[in-house]
This record gives sequence, C-alpha cells and structure tokens, in this order.
Amino acid sequence: MDIHRVEAFRDNYIFVLYDGNQGQAAVVDPGDAEPVLATLDRLGATLTTILNTHHHSDHVGGNRQLLDRFPAAWVYGGAEDQGRIPGQTHCLSAGDRITVGQRTAEVFFVPGHTRAHIAYYFAPAMADGWGELFCGDTLFAGGCGRLFEGTPQQMVESLSQLRQLPDRTRVWCAHEYTLNNLKFAITVDAANPTLQTRLEQVQAARALNQPTVPADLGLEKQTNPFLRWDSTALQRAVGGTSAVQTFARLRGKKDLF
Ligand code: ZN
Ligand code: FE
Repeated sequence: MDIHRVEAFRDNYIFVLYDGNQGQAAVVDPGDAEPVLATLDRLGATLTTILNTHHHSDHVGGNRQLLDRFPAAWVYGGAEDQGRIPGQTHCLSAGDRITVGQRTAEVFFVPGHTRAHIAYYFAPAMADGWGELFCGDTLFAGGCGRLFEGTPQQMVESLSQLRQLPDRTRVWCAHEYTLNNLKFAITVDAANPTLQTRLEQVQAARALNQPTVPADLGLEKQTNPFLRWDSTALQRAVGGTSAVQTFARLRGKKDLF
C-alpha cells in the first residue's frame, strides 16, 4: 500500500492509499475532490473506498463529487456521525476492522474534537515494520485538535488510546500545524532537549516548505505536550494536579496562543 499525501486548501492533507497490484485506491478525508481526482488519474486508479474520520467539511467536502465519478465506492465513517457524512454507507464503532486492499485497519473511537470522531490504524504489514495511523483532527504532530464537541476527559481518553500504539507508527494527521504546535510546546516544556531539537528540525523543514506529516509516534510521545499530561515538568508548568486537569489547562493555553 503506497500512501500519497495530497495538499488541499490552506493546510489540509488528504491521503490516497494505493494498491498498485489491484489498481485500486482508498482516500482518507477528501475535503476537496479535485486534487484527489488528479492523483487518481495520474495513478490510473479506481476509487473503492472513502475513509472519513469526522464530519467537518474540510474532511468530507469532496465525498459527493468523488461518488459522482466512482458511484460504487464505500464511504466509511463513525456510527455517531450518521447523517453528517455525505454518502456514508458504513457506520463504524470502536474495535471494528475493515479491509482496504491487502491491509486491515482497526477503528478507534476518539471523541473530543467532535463527538463522533474515529481514527484508522493499520498494523505493520511485516514484523518490525511501521504501522499507519490516520487520526484526522484528534492527534496532530506536536499538538491535538480543538475541543468542539467533547470534553477534556474524553480527549484524554482518546489520546490515551492512540498513545498506546507502538512507537513505530506513522501519524498521518490532517493538517500541517506542526510548527505552530511546537512553538507552543516549547513555552510549556522548555527544558525538553528532544523537543528543542525537533523544533529546530521542523523550523528548517518548513522554511523549505517541506511537509512534516507523517510524524513519528515515538517522537510524539516524547515531545507532544498533549500526550504528556503525566510529565511532572508539564504538570508544574501549568499547575495541573491530574492528567485531565493538566490536559485541560494545556488545551486552554493553546486556544489562546
Ligand atoms: Zn475538524
Ligand atoms: Fe480539519
């Protein structure tokens, strides 16, 4: 399975999963159909599957136009998003498994950004290979999504599930927010040397307009403040005494950053 990163709007990423043997493709969160169709045409691929993480228009806005061209495609989304995802054909819940080409994805229910948000995790195809996580607007490189429909408690539980995945997991998040996220992170975790190094690397990459997605989950665990609510340095920085309170204070500060 090849993963093609497609840029859309100002800072969205759409991902095309292409199985060259079968000439078939899936797409994750097609907010805009045009760049997806261009990619499919370049590959000569047939779209069989749309994977949506949540109902926001920058993630589902291209569904209808893609279905016009590929009417047989299945459209997956969270069970709680029924009625909010255009063309949805399948409702997914925690623990469901779906087949995409030769690979299988496990579904995680990760409410917080929205009340229905799900994520898709493809376990490594080979021992000691990399897993692939498509997490929409839940986990970002260096950050996490805003809480539009969920509570800090829910988001901590959602991010806890993602944090339990293996270090060797590529994080395919839906926005290029990394530089701003890390600039915030350094304000609350200034003494973290791994974070300092990462911020420098991301600054250099973005200066050259290079993407920072996919991120590496092992590195996220060491540098993303929204996965580090149990770090004493972070708890001290925001005056939090529990995981949820620390997370809530971090999220509140980031909203104002
Ligand atoms: Zn969103
Ligand atoms: Fe989004």
